[in-house]
Amino acid sequence: MTDILLQTEGLTKHYQVGGSLFAKSQQKVHALDNVNLTLYKREIVGVVGESGCGKSTLAKVLLRLVEPTEGTIRFEGRDITALNRKQMRDIRRDMQFVFQDPFSSLNPRKKVMDLIAEPLDIFRIGTRKDREKRVYELLDIVGLTKNHADRYPHQFSGGQRQRIGIARALALSPKLVICDEPVSALDVSVQAQILNLLQDLQEQFGLSYLFIAHGLDAVRHISNRIAVMYLGKLVEIGDSEEVFTRPRHPYTKALISAIPEIAPDHTEEPIKLTGEIPSPLNPPSGCRFHTRCPFAVERCKTEMPELRTAKDGHAVACHLAETI
Ligand code: SF4
Repeated sequence: MTDILLQTEGLTKHYQVGGSLFAKSQQKVHALDNVNLTLYKREIVGVVGESGCGKSTLAKVLLRLVEPTEGTIRFEGRDITALNRKQMRDIRRDMQFVFQDPFSSLNPRKKVMDLIAEPLDIFRIGTRKDREKRVYELLDIVGLTKNHADRYPHQFSGGQRQRIGIARALALSPKLVICDEPVSALDVSVQAQILNLLQDLQEQFGLSYLFIAHGLDAVRHISNRIAVMYLGKLVEIGDSEEVFTRPRHPYTKALISAIPEIAPDHTEEPIKLTGEIPSPLNPPSGCRFHTRCPFAVERCKTEMPELRTAKDGHAVACHLAETI
């Protein structure tokens, strides 16, 4: 039996923009390009990168909230890319989502009891009494109380609302939870509490997380492995501490250089990123990072580097990964 929970092969999402379907003016946003990613059972993979790198598109495509342009997604060995709506609905019992902004993802007109019970209602699980009991159990699991069930989302703090979002995601006992920047809208003081809660729940229920974050520091302690994305491409993936202490891709090195708590201990020269991230409408040829990379050579402008995996499982997409 395999320990792989989720696996993508060549996962690509291009959005057509501008003009009609057949117009010459039509352009493509390269939101996600040829992403090969494996997530094991009970594993947390942190996905990081700047805005527009494709990490949120990846989350939506994995749940097929957005359809991929190319590639396959396997969940527990089953290709879910071609499943119809009804089949996909059943799969979503095992694949849940925690959103960045719990306030906008929770219906303000519904009480917490109804919000958390909604997934159970949709799948007609148990009697009304059973569902009520399950909601109280979930409230307790996420650090809220029975009394909270009778309140509306606006009566809670940001951290409490995220706890409600997490309880809702856990209602169906999923195997995978995709967390899309779950702490970035919260106060710094609350972020650690929510991260600790997510970590405890992962251990308690043997969950797997794909944990999407803007910066590396948010995912360092929670992730087993870290995947770094740049302009729709996966550029590095490896064991969390390994990526932090021995990053191999210049982009990852630059992201780490930008974390003040880590950068001073780093023996290497800090790498400062200059310039804006190029538009995914017209990504650079060759290595997509070459317009900002301080190590770029002629070859980088024309030849796209493959993501190559070393013997220790650390994979990097850079022509010069061995030498810099
Ligand atoms: Fe930099 Fe070239 Fe490596 Fe891309 S392939 S990261 S441009 S050195």
